[in-house]
Amino acid sequence: MNETEKMYEGLGISPAVYAFGQEIEKGLKSRFEAIDETAEYNQLKVVGAMQKSRVEAACFAATSGYGYNDLGRDKLEEVYAEVFHAESALVRPQIACGTHALAVALSGNLRPGDELLSPVGKPYDTLEEVIGIRPSKGSLAEYGVTYRQVDLKEDGSFDYPAIEAALNERTKLVTIQRSKGYQTRPTLSVKRIGELIAFIKERKPDVICMVDNCYGEFVEPIEPTDVGADLCVGSLIKNPGGGLAPIGGYIVGKEEYVENAAYRLTSPGLGKEVGASLGVMTSFYQGFFLAPTVTAAALKGAIFAANIYEKLGFAVVPNSTESRHDIIQAVTFGKAEGVIAFCQGIQAAAPVDSYVTPEPWAMPGYDSDVIMAAGAFVQGSSIELSADGPIKPPYAVYFQGGLTWPHAKLGILMSLQKMADAGLVQL
Ligand SMILES: *Cc1c(COP(=O)(O)O)cnc(C)c1O
Repeated sequence: MNETEKMYEGLGISPAVYAFGQEIEKGLKSRFEAIDETAEYNQLKVVGAMQKSRVEAACFAATSGYGYNDLGRDKLEEVYAEVFHAESALVRPQIACGTHALAVALSGNLRPGDELLSPVGKPYDTLEEVIGIRPSKGSLAEYGVTYRQVDLKEDGSFDYPAIEAALNERTKLVTIQRSKGYQTRPTLSVKRIGELIAFIKERKPDVICMVDNCYGEFVEPIEPTDVGADLCVGSLIKNPGGGLAPIGGYIVGKEEYVENAAYRLTSPGLGKEVGASLGVMTSFYQGFFLAPTVTAAALKGAIFAANIYEKLGFAVVPNSTESRHDIIQAVTFGKAEGVIAFCQGIQAAAPVDSYVTPEPWAMPGYDSDVIMAAGAFVQGSSIELSADGPIKPPYAVYFQGGLTWPHAKLGILMSLQKMADAGLVQL
């Protein structure tokens, strides 16, 4: 037994589980190399942008009150705009989460009588209330913004004739969700997003194309703004915060549309001019600096898990060999015990709250019990190793994150250990 194996054993990983993991990892060398190459490219992109904007120590100073002339905030927005090859950016701790960033981008750019179109099917759950698909106080629907949706075809492709038919003189904004979220459709590659935007712009050049980029940042060498997206939106407690940002969201894109969002986030007339950074700037900068390699770690974890659980006969989405466009991995266990054991393993491997045992419970807003595993430095941060699963058929677990590859590996091995201990898998 080598020293590393002994360390694993000390943390509760049996020699059999360790050996199984080593065998799987051996087969992933070339995939991991490709991920490292993307991380290298994206790292250069971020460092280059920070150098171009002349980031300096003064950027990390805390501001308070109105936050006029907040150097760190303004330069960080320049850095984001540069990395996304966009005209402008809004990157703020006043944006509470990803849903808030999306709500601000939408409500800042839509007016009564306008129509919003989703050509990629149902958006992320929380967006249903923002849009008013599910009636909700303050929704876009209450402000007279209508909504249309075109579902993806059975095979996951775009339904171009239906999208063409759905575009009309009132269509003001098209929202495209990159990640599959908690659905089973494939995640969209940036290239496919570009093809969809080109199709739409050919028919209606003045429509605003917005991409919900959550979980997609730095997975590829290009971002949606490189292929025609007018706006790109995401959360800082996912990929671009690099695990360090304690809160926040971003909106990047065309100057006019980012401005419109800023007038909604703060106030008409004030826009980007106000909003103190309160001392979070170091974590925003440093997190963005780390984000390419953190995203790479999470991706390696997702691919490792797909290969482990596929080998054991479980359905995994994406599968063991597919190319990746976000960091989410789904594994279908077919029974509640599998979902529970998996989540308990992820929890047991966490740096924080590893001693607690997650159990399924009736969370508000869900139609079944849900189990969640998260032992994170930042509450609810899903760039940190985390997993959750609804206790209902098909008994699938969704997991994502991992700030470092060794930790993602430990978490997945621990999930496998719990599965083996419960007699759910035979190694
Ligand atoms: C996480 C996520 C959101 C919402 O972000 P929150 O920070 O949870 O509000 C929206 N869309 C997608 C695709 C997401 O993954």
